[in-house]
Formats: sequence, structure tokens, C-alpha cells
Amino acid sequence: MIITTAVREKLFRLGIRTELDLLLHLPIRYEDETHLFAIADALPGQMVQVEGVIRHTEVITRPRRQLVCRIEDGSGSLVMRLVNFYSGQIKAYAVGKRVRLVGEIRNGFFGAEMVHPKCRIVREDESLATTMTPIYPTTAGLTQKVLTRLINQVLPNTQTLQILTETIPNTILKQYRLISFRDSVFYLHNPPPEASLDALQSRTHAAWQRIKFDELLAQQLSMRLHYRQRRSHTAPMLAPVNKLTQQFLEQLAFQLTAAQIKAFTEISHDLGAAHPMQRLLQGDVGSGKTIVAALAALQAIENDFQAAIMAPTEILAEQHYRKLATWFEPLGINIASLSGSQKKKQKQAVWDDIALGNVQLVIGTHALFQNQVSFNRLGLVIIDEQHRFGVHQRLALRLKGLRTDRVPHQLMMSATPIPRTLSMSYFADLDVSIIDELPPGRSPIVTKLVADNRRDEVIARIRHACEQGKQVYWVCPLIEESETLQLQTAVETHGNLCKIFPDLNIGLVHGRLSAQDKAAVMHAFKQGETQLLVATTVIEVGVDVPNASLMVIENAERMGLSQLHQLRGRVGRGSEASVCILMFQQPLSDIARKRLKIIFENTDGFEIARQDLLLRGPGEFLGSRQSGLPMLRFADVEQDRELLAAAHAAADKMLNDFPELAQQHIERWLGDRTECLRV
Ligand code: ADP
Ligand code: MG
Repeated sequence: MIITTAVREKLFRLGIRTELDLLLHLPIRYEDETHLFAIADALPGQMVQVEGVIRHTEVITRPRRQLVCRIEDGSGSLVMRLVNFYSGQIKAYAVGKRVRLVGEIRNGFFGAEMVHPKCRIVREDESLATTMTPIYPTTAGLTQKVLTRLINQVLPNTQTLQILTETIPNTILKQYRLISFRDSVFYLHNPPPEASLDALQSRTHAAWQRIKFDELLAQQLSMRLHYRQRRSHTAPMLAPVNKLTQQFLEQLAFQLTAAQIKAFTEISHDLGAAHPMQRLLQGDVGSGKTIVAALAALQAIENDFQAAIMAPTEILAEQHYRKLATWFEPLGINIASLSGSQKKKQKQAVWDDIALGNVQLVIGTHALFQNQVSFNRLGLVIIDEQHRFGVHQRLALRLKGLRTDRVPHQLMMSATPIPRTLSMSYFADLDVSIIDELPPGRSPIVTKLVADNRRDEVIARIRHACEQGKQVYWVCPLIEESETLQLQTAVETHGNLCKIFPDLNIGLVHGRLSAQDKAAVMHAFKQGETQLLVATTVIEVGVDVPNASLMVIENAERMGLSQLHQLRGRVGRGSEASVCILMFQQPLSDIARKRLKIIFENTDGFEIARQDLLLRGPGEFLGSRQSGLPMLRFADVEQDRELLAAAHAAADKMLNDFPELAQQHIERWLGDRTECLRV
């Protein structure tokens, strides 16, 4: 195939480098030029091809300059309207010329019309296309014609047959009723005239199903392969000892929920194995993940290994440290905290203790995995709110233990509920435990939407709550563009609220405070010394003050759904009925209105996540921070969940029984792209 440099460059832009890429460059839609519609039969909104003779041509200037042609076919007539046209076209579309138009019929002011249809002049009885016309995604300067020709050059030759060999074993093809890969590719590039346009467009046709299955399978295979590779490492066997654990559970003020017990049982079992645990603990905000993490850490410590807990913010790390210290110090366990803002000397002391093995549990932020930190016997790494960390940070921490030939176990925790479908796709390389119930005695949170101009009512509510001994959060607007502005707003809000409530103690916490100051402010709030806490979104994750039962969020329309859900989860942690007031500024955009409606109507994080996914699509949903995963081009995890489930099941079977085909399949679909996957 001869391709000019200019064309090659454009193909590159479309991600097409090889003949296989070209073959897998599949149409985004199809046009049916295999038969003609009578103008009188075509319905508004329908994509049709019609043919007729031009009876009238005119350039009109109002409302703007355009070329208008009236076309008749014996059954009726329609108007073709070209707003952008060349002067050559005025002559070409002269009265008496026969034209074929492909486009959408609309109901215009003067009856049926087509705006900018595909139009070409034809002879009488000119033959019709014999296949549906595929329309390919393309880029500026690369026409459909060129792209189609290139693909059709590659399609029929014998080398192509080589490129498109079958990678899926017969048993799996039969089980999921899949048609051949080669046939699917051929079909989608050149569907026969009798093909259902509908099945092609909606991608429900068996050929599309096969392509989507293959794409999903490749993703599953590569992730399961990574899972297996990591599992092939050796980890310390940390079987339950149950001495300290027993003692710990006895001193605890509450009973574990059934879901907590189940999750911990799974974790405990993993820890006892000789290969590293790679488990994700998912549970909605307030479901009680911390205690499960504590139990896991305890099991490592009882085996004379060290455990580390990493949190995304200093506030959260500090809170974990305090909580775990009250839990573990009575058991005689040595626990330390490590954060970026500690003095060098202080850090050095902790590093030394970690290296010597004096510290059994260390809690901290990113500071945990700076190069200076080397563990003596790291057995377990726990990562709280894992969605806040990037891929590489997670990896770096796990590698800490690699100084020896043993890899530590890893437990990740997340309160960002990921819909089941996305989780099956995105977390295919992890084992997942789910805490699906909240501790007993919680009263549900009531959410209220209040426009900004009703601030007075909100103020009255706060006064009332504080008079009754309750505590309140006031969350300042998120100003993504400028941290300085955000800070300024928080300080101003604090000042204003101090004026409005001179008799209340009001705290202020934001990202620029030093770790000590943050800790002091949070501590005062937790102790009930301050009644009202003005905060930026730094309190979004993890903060736990059960006596706080009212939260006000300003400019809620600017925040993402999962962020709002996380923030709202800071209240409703005690037995008091809690209220979350979402203030918004009018006018609301359409999407903002939809988002607020979702958060207003739902309290279940999984349902919120599902709707958010539908609203935004998986790319945005996971956020750029998380996108270690190549995006799917053809399949859609929500729409194609049955295929996803099938691919999920088929992947393990293939890795077990057909490892070579599995490898070929991964290479076909991911090629050198596998390295952008999570390692
Ligand atoms: P999250 O899952 O959001 O991290 P936490 O671990 O912070 O939740 O727990 C939320 C609150 O629930 C804490 O105050 C914790 O002490 C309490 N809690 C956890 N488990 C239980 C339980 N089984 N019964 C009663 N309260 C519990
Ligand atoms: Mg938590």
C-alpha cells in the first residue's frame, strides 16, 4: 500500500499505525444508499436517500445568503438548503439536473427540506450502492473517500487473513454465541444491502457484539495477568493469632456489623497466604472501614511484622493516628505518625524507629514513602481513600517492602462507590470486599436544596442547632482556579459568621494551615469546644465527628457528585437526625440542575455513582488522576454489562487453559499500550 507522508501523518493522528489499526478503525455510523425513498414517504427526522430533478434554483439573501433548490421526484418535492456554497454549485445545480441526496428530512417553513445533504449529480438509472456506506471517524484533511479506499485495499488481501486470525477458542465462542472475528471485521466495513441499519447503528449486531467482547476481553486479560504476576511474588504469611485481636474487640464500645466481620474475614484469610494480598475494601462513607483496617494491622503486628497506613490528607492521617493510638496503646503497641510538615529531626527519629523495627504501626501521608523511609519488616500496607492517590504513589509504597524478597500485603480502602460494572472493569486486577451496611442506630440525613438568596433561613437554622448543643459544618465554595481566592473566601466567610454569631466559638480550617494548627482546630471541634466549623473542602475525606449534625455547603452546584456525597457523609454519624443544606447560586445550568437532583434524591453512594457515570461517562467519572486504564473505543461498560460479565468470566478461563491465545489477544488489542495499565 502506498501512502503519502501527509496521509500517514493524519492516520497517525487517528491512532492508525499498522494495517491492523486500519482494520480496527470501524465506522461510527452508516448511511443507507442501497435504495431510494420516495420523497412523499420520507418522515421528518429520518436519514434517507432520495433522487429527483431540480425544478428551481435560487440564491436568497434573507435571513442569510443561501442556495435553495426545489427538487421533485414524482411523489412530491423537497427543498435543499445550502448555507455555505461555492459559486460553482449555483451552476452545477441548475434547473433540469438530476440529483441524489442523502440526509435528514426536516419539516421546514415551506414543507420538507434537507439542510446540507450529501448531494451528487447522477444520470437517469444510475446504479445504487450495493452495501451500506460506512462513515468513519476521521480528522481534518482526511476524507471519507481516502479512508474508505485505504481500508478496502487492506481488507481483501491474504495478509489480512493472517492479521485477523481467531484468538478465541471454540469453546468460548460457542458458550457466548460469538461469530468469527474475521467475519465481524469484514461485515462492519462492508455490510451487505440486506443488513439492518438499525442493528448496525445501535451496535447490537452480532458483528459489533463480537468486536466489543474482544475489546473488553483484552482489558480483562491484561488486568488479570497483572493480578497473577503480582500474586506470583512471595509475601509473609500472617495467619491470625487472635490474642491481641481478642483483647481489642473486648475493649471496643460497639459490636462489629455483619458486613464488617465478613470483610475482615476475607482480609484475614488473604493475610495468611504466602502471596501478597491485593484487596480493595469498598464501603460507603461512615460504613466503618477504619476498624476493619485496624484489625488487619493488628493481625500483621501479632505476627511480628510492621504495618503502615497511608491517608491522603494530614487531617485524616492525624485523625487516624489519634484514634488508633487510643485503640492500640492499651495493647502495648508502638505507633508513630509521619507527615511532610514535621521537623526534619522529628522525622529522622521516626525513620530510625521504623528502620530498627521499634515502630509497629506507622500512620502518615505521602511522607510515608519518601526515599529515606525504609522499613524493617513491612508486612502490610493500608491505603485509605485510595482513589485520592495516583497510580505511581501506590506502587512506590508497595515496592518499599521489596528490599527483601517478600512483598507486603496491600489493602486499599475507598469510599467512592464505583458502580458494579465499572468496578468489574476498572478493578479487575484486584479482589474486592464490600461493606454494604451502615452501623446500627444512624438516622438518615435529610438533604435540602436552598437558593443563595434564602441565606437568612440557613442562619436561623444554625442558631437553632447550636442552641440545642449540636455542632455545625460550614463548607466554603470550591474555587478550583485559585487556591488563594479559595483561602480568602474561607477567611471572609469565617469573619462574617463570627459577626453574625458573636456568642459562638467558630473554628476555621483550610489547606494552608500547618499540620499542627489543622490538628488543633479539628481537635477543638471534636471536643465540642467550637460549635461551628468553617472549612474548605479539605474536610471532604474521612473526618469523623459524630456530634456534628448540620452541614451547610455553599455553591454546591460547583462540586462533583462524589465530592458532595463525601462531604455530606461527615454528618449523620451519630444518633441525631442530621441535615445537609446544599446552597446554590441561580441560575443553574442544565447539568448542575441534574446533578443536584441526583444528590437530593439519593443517599446510597452506589446509586449516586451509577447515575453520575451515566451523566458523565467513564473517562470523566474516574478522573484523569485515575486513568491508568485505556479507554474503551467500542464497548460501553453500562450498556454492554452482559458482555462485560462474559469477558470477565472468559478471561480467567483463557489464562488457565489457553495462555498463548490470551497473549495474542492482548497484543492484538493493546499492543504496546499495555504499559499504560496499572503495573
Ligand atoms: P468510614 O467507612 O467512612 O471510614 P469510619 O471508619 O470513620 O467510617 O466509621 C464511622 C463511625 O462509625 C466512627 O465513629 C466509628 O467509630 C463508628 N463505627 C464503626 N463501626 C461501628 C459499629 N459496628 N457500630 C457502631 N459504630 C461504628
Ligand atoms: Mg474513612
